[in-house]
Amino acid sequence: MQELARDIVAAKSLVILSGAGMGLASGIATFRGQDPGAVWANDVMTMGTFGFFQEDPVESWRWYRSRFRSLHGALPNAGHHALVQLERWAAASGRDFLLVTQNIDTLHRKAGSERLVEVHGRADRVRCPAPGCVHGAPRGSLPVPDFSAFDADPSEATLPRCPACGAFVRAHVLWFDEYYDGHEDYQFRRVMSAFLAADLILSVGTSFAVGVTEAALRTRATKWTIDPSSTRPPWGVRPWSAPQEEALPALVATLAGQ
Ligand SMILES: [Zn+2]
Repeated sequence: MQELARDIVAAKSLVILSGAGMGLASGIATFRGQDPGAVWANDVMTMGTFGFFQEDPVESWRWYRSRFRSLHGALPNAGHHALVQLERWAAASGRDFLLVTQNIDTLHRKAGSERLVEVHGRADRVRCPAPGCVHGAPRGSLPVPDFSAFDADPSEATLPRCPACGAFVRAHVLWFDEYYDGHEDYQFRRVMSAFLAADLILSVGTSFAVGVTEAALRTRATKWTIDPSSTRPPWGVRPWSAPQEEALPALVATLAGQ
């Protein structure tokens, strides 16, 4: 930890990547097969697609509603709160800081993180899939409408529709058959600029091997990962094998004491 703290102090520009492991301590199951508590391993690649939504919007939403249920009542954990402290520490000391999360659970937002990109979207919004609709891409979205009729009796008749054009709403998340530039909320360019400018990139609860994190690997930044399961991180990434909800508060306390 002392070495990581030293590297952070030496950095002018910090990027934190967070992923599924971040939510475990908040009771949120992850959905990749190798993670502990994974429950959607088999269906995520087929059901988590725009193609599937187009084919069967009712089944797509039934699946998402069951996924989103595990987010209900979830609260930020000590790791989320520590990242808010880290952001404030960075701001107070004149450092650039950006938190890039792959999580859609909005817990960083709830904890109070402000320099935040939810690069895979967010569970507390939906959007319209119709091209050109004001409530859809490139920058439109809507609060989650009332799904109670749908949850009680899932059908096309009960599925919420876009108030502007009448299309079935879709989840405001990046699907597996979509690209990061598909909606401005994913802030892909901001993320790429932050990667290129970063002196230090720290991943928490995610590996450097999935999606946007792969691009982080190819930068000049010093790279660290905090992950209890990260026994063999990619080449060039320094591991700290510890639960994030213990490691991050300890790290922030160390930085504050310097
Ligand atoms: Zn619409």
